[in-house]
Amino acid sequence: MPEKFESDFLPVMTVRELVVFPGSITPLFVMRTKSHEALEDALARDKRIFLVCQKSPDVEDPKREDLYDVGTVGEVLQVLRVPDGTAKVLVEGGYAGRIIELSDVGNHLQALIVHNQVNVYDAQPVNALMRATSKLFEAFAELSGKVPVDLFNSIRNLKEPLAYLYAVSNYATLKIEDKQEILESNSLEEKFLLLNKALEAENQILELETKIQGQVKTQISRSQREFYLNEQLKAIERELGISGEEDPELNELAMAIEMSGMSADAREKAEKELGRLARMAPMSPEAAITRTYIEWLTEVPWNNATEDKIDLERARAILDEDHYGLVKVKERIIEYLAVAKLVGKMRGPILCFVGPPGVGKTSLGKSIARCMDREFVRISLGGVRDEAEVRGHRRTYVGALPGKIIQSMKRAGTVNPVFLLDEIDKMSSDFRGDPASAMLEVLDPEQNCEFNDHYLEVDFDLSQVMFLTTANSMEGIPHPLLDRMETIRLPGYTEDEKRHIANRHLIPRQRSEHGLKAAQFRMSKGTLTHLITGYTREAGVRNLERTIATLCRKVATDVIEHPRKKTGTLTKEKLREYLGPVNFHDTQLERKPDIGIANGLAWTNAGGEMLQVETTIMKGKGNLTLTGMLGEVMQESAKTALSYIRSRAVELEIDPDFYAGVDIHIHVPEGAIPKDGPSAGITIALSLTSAVARFPVRQDIAMTGEMTLRGRVLKIGGLKEKALAAHRHRIRTIIIPRDNLDDIEEIAEEVRNQLTFIPVESLDEVLDLALVRPRRVAKKQVKGRRTHAQLGN
Ligand code: ADP
Repeated sequence: MPEKFESDFLPVMTVRELVVFPGSITPLFVMRTKSHEALEDALARDKRIFLVCQKSPDVEDPKREDLYDVGTVGEVLQVLRVPDGTAKVLVEGGYAGRIIELSDVGNHLQALIVHNQVNVYDAQPVNALMRATSKLFEAFAELSGKVPVDLFNSIRNLKEPLAYLYAVSNYATLKIEDKQEILESNSLEEKFLLLNKALEAENQILELETKIQGQVKTQISRSQREFYLNEQLKAIERELGISGEEDPELNELAMAIEMSGMSADAREKAEKELGRLARMAPMSPEAAITRTYIEWLTEVPWNNATEDKIDLERARAILDEDHYGLVKVKERIIEYLAVAKLVGKMRGPILCFVGPPGVGKTSLGKSIARCMDREFVRISLGGVRDEAEVRGHRRTYVGALPGKIIQSMKRAGTVNPVFLLDEIDKMSSDFRGDPASAMLEVLDPEQNCEFNDHYLEVDFDLSQVMFLTTANSMEGIPHPLLDRMETIRLPGYTEDEKRHIANRHLIPRQRSEHGLKAAQFRMSKGTLTHLITGYTREAGVRNLERTIATLCRKVATDVIEHPRKKTGTLTKEKLREYLGPVNFHDTQLERKPDIGIANGLAWTNAGGEMLQVETTIMKGKGNLTLTGMLGEVMQESAKTALSYIRSRAVELEIDPDFYAGVDIHIHVPEGAIPKDGPSAGITIALSLTSAVARFPVRQDIAMTGEMTLRGRVLKIGGLKEKALAAHRHRIRTIIIPRDNLDDIEEIAEEVRNQLTFIPVESLDEVLDLALVRPRRVAKKQVKGRRTHAQLGN
């Protein structure tokens, strides 16, 4: 707009909280009557109007003193009248003007205005100031985000300093006082300085704001989002009529907590978690975790107990019904029950059944539960190496669950089940913690009323549980655990016992499980013995039961395919047809004496076993080779035996230099099974002597005994199991250390009666018994050699 006059009378429109700058196009809402009149006046003339800001926005009818001195002369570009009497006006700022005189002309204000000019200025400082402004404005645009890119670019393109200054002043959000000062100043440098100062202050505030906002935003955005989604979900549910404010699932959980009878601690915990759950988004993973946790708390049995019915008469009947034999074991169980009945509590040591697989350890546990009318649960500790398997993972783990103990308690559904811990000797420990120490807490009556599962977090009372344990051997049981247990040995069964077990228990059970009638599956005593000795060779009856199951399947198939065939009696030929050729031959008795081979008796996790020790001698340089996965102790036994024979070569009628030109190889077959222990000592020595002296060894004798370097025979363990093994192999004579004589008592009568036990104290006795050598000649030779030796002196 051209500056038409140096001074002029113009209609005045007062504006609130707004400084209209020259060069800007500004929309104004006209509401007050005086402003309307001024507008009308302007429109009636040349559309020019003086726009000036009130010092205070609250004044309705401002006088001279209420107005700033400087305003802007503008031109009305457009008027838009609204029916409610207001008008929207678009004005373009022309130039800054200063009021000289103001007068009220009837219904609006009018003023004499002079141009508020800018003094002459130096281009250089102005340019520098302008550049600073440019930077500050750019920062402002970025920080505030309120300057559209197009607008920003067009402002940047303004080359004329004053126009640029006004444009920036217009668009930057500055205080009214600052804007007014900029408009009023007559010095361009000062105007820029004022603008820059205001911009800088503004930028600082903006920066601070952004920083604070950023912090707050990260803090609340997640919970805001969840809250928002939650509210939406609730709204959707309400629309669908799925739920009112009450969540049926929460009610159910609350009810379950109420009904569970949980401890005060657990209850407090459960209710707290329930409260948290109510505030969570129902579909969130966290809610799922919390829900599962509460469910666990409500589902473990807190006070649901079965009533013990201990009637010794009935208990005896049940034990006899479920198991054949095992007289001593059953008696011990009856004693245990009697004490439990008197004391009214499960105190006293924990019973541990020790024995090879398949001797009925687990099924005894089940029978005990039946005797007492308790629930039965069983866990296997074999291979458990992580404490968390026993005690659970903390809830912070993904997919955490309670440990085996609590899981089984839930399965039992009562606080007082019979709880069988199988294979307690097979636990191991590593960096993940020691499961044995957790087990100690489980089994210790002083501690187990407050068993702490990591997942459950609250204490659980295990004191009413009757714990039983099983193990294959006592060696693997950690000592502190062993201290708390009373071990009951189940050495295995004789052939006769196995037959009875098969007839009374295994065959009837398998028959009924396979839907066969008694007439469809029968076996004579002879056939059954053949099945036991020819197809299975074990201490227990597990394979026997499995083989009977196999036969039942074959017979069942036959019955379906050939319904007319009548005979249900199994013969040896039938066994061969169904099971193939026998696995084990009874050849031991018939075998002739043999050089370098001796029958040893060993004791393994699978019960007693007979192992043959073989020795061969070949040309060589005096090397001793041992094969067959022999442990260190067994290797030492072999070296001891060799040293003994060398030291006694003369007495043993062996060439004292036999060792020089030969290599000796000792092997114990079934090389894939690791073997160790000292009790093979005399067997190795016998085999070695036989090989060196070329005298054969009797094959109808088996033996066990540790040997010293001087040829004394020492006591061994597991005689019961070893005797059974020898018996199984049809051996009838066994050589045992004299110190083991007392153990013969414990061997099953049937076996004891059929075996001849020969106690020995020295290896010489062993050699005399087992080597086949022409005695008379031998003695003479020995004498002769001695004389020879003496002559040599
Ligand atoms: P373990 O736990 O000692 O390895 P189990 O208890 O699993 O052995 O026994 C294997 C099978 O043999 C079971 O079916 C069990 O009922 C049966 N059994 C073992 N001993 C006897 C016995 N004395 N009388 C009857 N059945 C037995």
